[in-house]
Amino acid sequence: MLELSMYIDGEWRQGSGNGKREIINPANGEVIAQAAEGNVSDVRAAVQAAREAFDRGPWPGLSAEERAGYLLKAAAKIDERHDELAALETLDNGKPLREAGYDVSDAAACFRYYAGLIPAPHGETYTVPDNMQAMVIREPIGVCGLIVPWNYPLLMSVWKIAPALAAGNAIVYKPSELTPVTATKLFEILEETGLPKGVANMVMGAGETVGNEIAVSHGVDMISFTGGTDTGRRIMKAASGNMKKISLELGGKSPNIIFADADFESAVDYALFGIYAGAGQICSAGSRILVEESIKDAFVARFTERANKIRVGAGGDPETEMGPLVSQEQLDKVLRYIEIGKAEGAEIACGGFRLTGRDYDNGFFVAPTAFIDTEPGMRIVQEEIFGPVAVFQTFRDETEAVRLANETKYGLAGAVFTKDAARAMRVIKKVRAGITWVNTYHGTYNEAPWHGYKQSGIGSSLGTYGLDEFLETKQINFNLDGGPSGWFSG
Ligand code: NAD
Repeated sequence: MLELSMYIDGEWRQGSGNGKREIINPANGEVIAQAAEGNVSDVRAAVQAAREAFDRGPWPGLSAEERAGYLLKAAAKIDERHDELAALETLDNGKPLREAGYDVSDAAACFRYYAGLIPAPHGETYTVPDNMQAMVIREPIGVCGLIVPWNYPLLMSVWKIAPALAAGNAIVYKPSELTPVTATKLFEILEETGLPKGVANMVMGAGETVGNEIAVSHGVDMISFTGGTDTGRRIMKAASGNMKKISLELGGKSPNIIFADADFESAVDYALFGIYAGAGQICSAGSRILVEESIKDAFVARFTERANKIRVGAGGDPETEMGPLVSQEQLDKVLRYIEIGKAEGAEIACGGFRLTGRDYDNGFFVAPTAFIDTEPGMRIVQEEIFGPVAVFQTFRDETEAVRLANETKYGLAGAVFTKDAARAMRVIKKVRAGITWVNTYHGTYNEAPWHGYKQSGIGSSLGTYGLDEFLETKQINFNLDGGPSGWFSG
């Protein structure tokens, strides 16, 4: 059994209220860890430590080379502990080892990417009137609150921690209360890099207490959140007291548009990957599959034939292709949506049930599921289910495809499959989403920004855009002749 502590002001601590939370393996319901449960006073201690480190400590003033050095060390240590971190991620989140392995490698690469941006030239100069030299420099924001979900416990954390530290901020970070295991390992790694105390703090616990206090605290200057859209709305309100800068990466219900002229097998393959990777618990999942009417029957037949063959099981089994859902609550939510879909009149094309039997009974497994005969207004078409549940929609032409694609409150991701390059470009430009693909799905790159339109978010992660989120912009106007203004006569 793992014992997980919080990391505040350079020390490993239990929660001040001595609370504990049991952490569950979603593949079999067993308790794998006891995590310290933080409360409001723990957040206050973490914020105070971060303020001290930022306002009076050496961190924000380090040279680019020095600061990049810490991030490079973190990357190297993540690589060294790759297999251990991947195994723990699988144990805690349930995802297959192969997926967890990619996450760990990506996390190391993300630290290296942001280390590389630190010494890059930045800032601008302007030619302005009045014998002034105007220039812009970028500065860290101060103390940043970072709150992440459970679907990529390590990777989502690094998407925030790496750029926040690269920019020179101090951080107060909260993992999901469901999946804190690799977060504690990541903080062991940050400690081993020798980061000055107080620069990186971790408080574990519930969203309504620990998360809310981070969002409310006037000692926090910026909040970067990834999670559900409704939680994002609450955080926006909570963050308004001291006008925090905010960056929100939220939910999605992304359209995957398949035209009749697409490479059939490749489109089926990516449609499966789009929705069933991560057991559908991916914000950018291709959860709405829009198929041109003329190929619908053949497409659904091939899709369901392959979906029924997906090997569902414990993530630690090397044969497993799709793992369990993360928790009993998530299982209940997904099963509830399956019932809603049936009650709304949609037809199940495959799956539609909880998996049972010896290997499944104590875990949270749902069969790969797809609905056909849907209507755009149905809840299963409009709402984020966040599980292995695809809904098929059909369209007759490009205009209808685009209209249906954009007909939800979300705008996170979208894809189009066609051999007609001009059509691919026309359609993808009209899809109101920040992350899009042509003839592929799910590729994510540290170099390119990750950004939601509409109710899928505000601001960006990754790329140079992701670094900008953690920087202030300062204008400096320099009087070149040094003389007085001459405005007043006396
Ligand atoms: P969630 O919104 O329930 O929780 C996310 C985090 O917020 C957790 O750490 C939680 O403890 C905390 N939280 C909850 N209530 C809070 C409050 N009132 N104040 C402050 N913090 C609070 O989301 P989840 O169920 O953990 O994750 C699934 C959601 O995350 C999905 O909607 C998914 O689409 C989204 N997501 C988005 C992206 C993206 O990049 N856009 C990536 C991954 C996940």
